[in-house]
Amino acid sequence: MITLDTPMDTLLDSSHGKPKLLVVDDQPINIQVMHQVFGGDYQVFMATSGPQALAICKANPPDLVLLDIVMPGMDGFEVCSRLKADDATCNIPVIFVTAHTDAAQETHGLGLGAVDFIAKPVNPAVVRARVKTQLTLKFQSDLLRKLVFLDGLSGVYNRRYFDQQLGIEWARSTRSSFPLSAIMIDVDHFKLFNDRYGHQSGDDCLRQIAVALKVCLKRPGDLVARYGGEEFACILPDTPFDDAMSLANDLERKVRALAIPHESSSVAKVITVSVGVATRTVDSADDAAALVGLADSQLYNAKQSGRGRVCGAQL
Ligand code: GH3
Ligand code: MG
Ligand code: MG
Repeated sequence: MITLDTPMDTLLDSSHGKPKLLVVDDQPINIQVMHQVFGGDYQVFMATSGPQALAICKANPPDLVLLDIVMPGMDGFEVCSRLKADDATCNIPVIFVTAHTDAAQETHGLGLGAVDFIAKPVNPAVVRARVKTQLTLKFQSDLLRKLVFLDGLSGVYNRRYFDQQLGIEWARSTRSSFPLSAIMIDVDHFKLFNDRYGHQSGDDCLRQIAVALKVCLKRPGDLVARYGGEEFACILPDTPFDDAMSLANDLERKVRALAIPHESSSVAKVITVSVGVATRTVDSADDAAALVGLADSQLYNAKQSGRGRVCGAQL
């Protein structure tokens, strides 16, 4: 379960180890100064030109950029504009560090999306304090962005994230002509489970199922989300029908193997799930909603034909 007490490590990739700072300045001496100020508590990366800074931000995004304005070639304003225009880098806070501060420049820089302006030569205590403030805000907003897409009960992704990723993966599959599979999973006789063991046990059961489903998904692009009450859903990019069916059978067996007692079920003495699989073949002219609709109707078939099983079809 995700709460505000959940360790930051679990939620923030960037909090693994020391926060990463990128110092951008065409004068190596200025970079050295910043290295002395931050070297102990931060991982300090450096760039001596705008293009180099942009390349580093793409390849290994820092948690914050300290950016000089006056540089030959691409200046700091241009670097900041480009960072803010790119979805992959727009959430990295930028602090301008410059020898020429005047109100017009400062206004311009803040207008481009920078969070602060610091005058050179820097006062170490001041720059440290300002960087810390901005990093705290950055980690908090990263956390909120993640929480928006996580299900509070089970800790897996929520419906909102599922819908967003499905749209992205459908478009990718249209472009690349790779198959795309979706899986819908519904707990069998869950109302009877709640009636017999209580709602708290029901919640525990959903959490255990979420973990079991998650460990079955091994490829980086695969995802599982809680789709609604006692329903989960998976997206499997680049996955043909046979592989999706085989994974769906793994999911069904894995949940059964949890051996959560369910004495009221007509399927087994333990909790089981029914599973519907749908695969988009490469030339399908349908849309993402049709894929989920097909998986859902296959889930219905699984329910009708006895529950605790997998049914599937191709779109
Ligand atoms: P079927 O095998 O046909 O799917 O039967 P079912 O009882 O699972 O399906 P039904 O849709 O009738 O009931 C779903 C139940 O799931 C009812 C609802 O109380 C329970 N449920 C939904 N969300 C939660 C939840 O977050 N926690 C708990 N404990 N129960 C939930
Ligand atoms: Mg249901
Ligand atoms: Mg159910």
